[in-house]
Amino acid sequence: ELVKHFPINEGAVLRRTVGQVHAVDGVSLTLAPGETLGLVGETGCGKSTLARCVAGLHPVTSGRVVFDGRDITDLSRKEMRAVRKDIQVIFQDPYGSLNPRRRVGSIIADPLVIHGVGTPRERRRAVGELMERVGLNPEHYNRFPAEFSGGQRQRIGVARALALRPRLIICDEPVSALDVSIQAQILNLLKDLQDDFGLTYLFIAHDLSVVRHVSDRIAVMYLGRVVELAEADELYEAPRHPYAGALLSATAVADPDVADRRTRVVLTGDVPSPINPPAGCRFHPRCPRAQEVCASTQPPLEGGAHLTACHFPLEGPAPGPGPRGGEG
Ligand code: SF4
Ligand code: MG
Repeated sequence: ELVKHFPINEGAVLRRTVGQVHAVDGVSLTLAPGETLGLVGETGCGKSTLARCVAGLHPVTSGRVVFDGRDITDLSRKEMRAVRKDIQVIFQDPYGSLNPRRRVGSIIADPLVIHGVGTPRERRRAVGELMERVGLNPEHYNRFPAEFSGGQRQRIGVARALALRPRLIICDEPVSALDVSIQAQILNLLKDLQDDFGLTYLFIAHDLSVVRHVSDRIAVMYLGRVVELAEADELYEAPRHPYAGALLSATAVADPDVADRRTRVVLTGDVPSPINPPAGCRFHPRCPRAQEVCASTQPPLEGGAHLTACHFPLEGPAPGPGPRGGEG
């Protein structure tokens, strides 16, 4: 019970295959109780798929998902239902994830009804308390989703995710669809709830500046692989993988203090198709530091507390002149 394994122990492989597309390939992550792990990458890097595998919403092709020391990869529907009391999801789109024809009180009560928790009267009271806790007016119990703003709708999604008092909540880009002015409110709410309920978060985003402030550690994904994993501040201030460096260079404008201390990396080219990912390091066609070895040999994810999968990490040994004429 000391460590909550998410989704896999060292050496295990989680692999989700969608047709020919390897959305997630050999990803291995562990979450500590009460921790927030940020998962960052461009659209299509596999981060949402990974999250859905963990929540049991997607079948896992090979590899395994371990929760509280228990392999939950191949559970029956019934067994998985019990596990899902502990693992809930907050979805990206507070518009699309709420049925517009149902009253919010009954939407929030759904998990309680599905899991047979409480009498109707007890559920009614629990929903009122949840609404209050997430900053909604409990008297609006009978309103429809359309009568709420975007930020309020995401609060409805948060209340629904909290209803069963889960231990792990997967936040799948919970603020991406919201105005910037509303984002901070929702992020602060999630932080407060984490402290109050001892929640563990897997927090997915494509924007590093969002993840930085809520995460203890951050994992950066590229084409289905984790390429860097470190303490949030350390990754933000001194990224080692050129892709992480590029993501951060893109956000540097907003934070000039940090930009000064970092190596600037500028991305070239488009994201390759995940249908036929590049051999060797998957980032090599776009990497300004790529050498011959990068095209043939996949770098392992290594480095103790600050893991990086790169033959020539930033602030590491400088690569010699290669087929591209070195660093130039
Ligand atoms: Fe770039 Fe090579 Fe590192 Fe991949 S292994 S990120 S191509 S330097
Ligand atoms: Mg997504």
